[in-house]
Amino acid sequence: MSEEKNCFLTPLTPKKNKKKKLASGICDFCGKEHLLCYICTQCEFTVCQTCFIENQKMFTRSGVTWVCPNCLNWETL
Ligand SMILES: [Zn+2]
Ligand SMILES: [Zn+2]
Repeated sequence: MSEEKNCFLTPLTPKKNKKKKLASGICDFCGKEHLLCYICTQCEFTVCQTCFIENQKMFTRSGVTWVCPNCLNWETL
């Protein structure tokens, strides 16, 4: 008998449309590489946490969402 039950334990291939919102990247503000950057899922505009906090008024008012200054796409934090 083959162990068919093990098939149920194999996770499905994750869908590609779920992009990471916080990932490493090169900040479009300071041009430096950071481990944790906010990345726009529309245009991949990248801003590091330091620049994000420094320019917080430009990005967010509520602290729940931020708007990409490049393509004006709204992202949740
Ligand atoms: Zn930066
Ligand atoms: Zn964008």
